[in-house]
Amino acid sequence: MAIELCRKGFKDVSISTKALYDLPSWRAGGFFDPGTGEETTLPLQLRTRRALETFHVFHQIEHGNHPYLLSNVVRRLPLYSMAHSKTGVEVLEKFNYMPPRQLVTIDFGNGIVHENYAKYITYFIDVAQVMKQLWTEVKKLKIPVIIEEICSFEQCTQDIICNCAGLAGGTLAQDELVYTQRGHFFLLNTEAGDAHMNYMLFTKVPQGEKDEYLYVFPKNSVHTAEYPDGRACSGMLGGTFIVDSDTLSKEELQKLDETEFQKLQERAQEFFYGKDL
Ligand SMILES: Cc1cc2nc3c(=O)[nH]c(=O)nc-3n(C[C@H](O)[C@H](O)[C@H](O)COP(=O)(O)OP(=O)(O)OC[C@H]3O[C@@H](n4cnc5c(N)ncnc54)[C@H](O)[C@@H]3O)c2cc1C
Repeated sequence: MAIELCRKGFKDVSISTKALYDLPSWRAGGFFDPGTGEETTLPLQLRTRRALETFHVFHQIEHGNHPYLLSNVVRRLPLYSMAHSKTGVEVLEKFNYMPPRQLVTIDFGNGIVHENYAKYITYFIDVAQVMKQLWTEVKKLKIPVIIEEICSFEQCTQDIICNCAGLAGGTLAQDELVYTQRGHFFLLNTEAGDAHMNYMLFTKVPQGEKDEYLYVFPKNSVHTAEYPDGRACSGMLGGTFIVDSDTLSKEELQKLDETEFQKLQERAQEFFYGKDL
């Protein structure tokens, strides 16, 4: 936002942030979710327009036509998902932005076969690269960065405030329609690096009484306050989307995390290797 405002000629643009690392934007998977799902209150027409506009930006980046993001931040990858489930990518297919989905059977070659899957082609974004390139641009434009926590907009003396506070955005704006989701994922470390990760998987698998999420995305580095230059990894395996966990106590959260990591491990094991590993 700060970069875009500067580029449009706004003066005295600055960024206030409570942290530089350990943020969702460094951690995200990077699957281009066109955001046409039901979780937003925006009318479908507006959601679709937004999805297609976002697609155009990725297309521009892919072809080296973006003013400050290089083409190495996006690539087209197959996304495997259950044929009857919705991933949001359908909108790209509908407008002929990506090739039509193919119905496929996933065969891991170890006796585990999953039928009725769809293979889509969509964008995968290297989020660590995006973040690095955005910070390079912030430095180039000499945008001041102030490390501070904003607890209320009354604290801000500027004429215009752009609320980009992510998880805290709803609270700051006192917007009750905005809610948080807690996610759990494992980082994958294989000796093969991320070279084998030339696909994405986003699906639901039955577990207990419910269908639970399972996703796999490539990831080649993870950046935290401890490792600002990044630590090599080869992918990420998730996950969960748990609503309103921020109302839980510390002990309840710890219990939730333990349970969810255990469940995630079990369903991943079953999906890739079968029950009797
Ligand atoms: C595990 C995981 C996987 C994901 N996978 C995908 C995916 O595949 N595809 C996809 O589209 N999305 C995915 N997401 C979601 C995506 O990461 C987020 O929607 C996106 O990164 C949000 O970006 P943002 O800039 O709005 O917020 P953030 O990255 O959260 O940045 C918020 C900024 O505001 C600052 N801030 C917050 N509160 C305050 C405060 N009170 N005062 C001052 N500063 C404050 C923070 O320090 C930070 O700089 C995933 C998220 C996670 C966690």
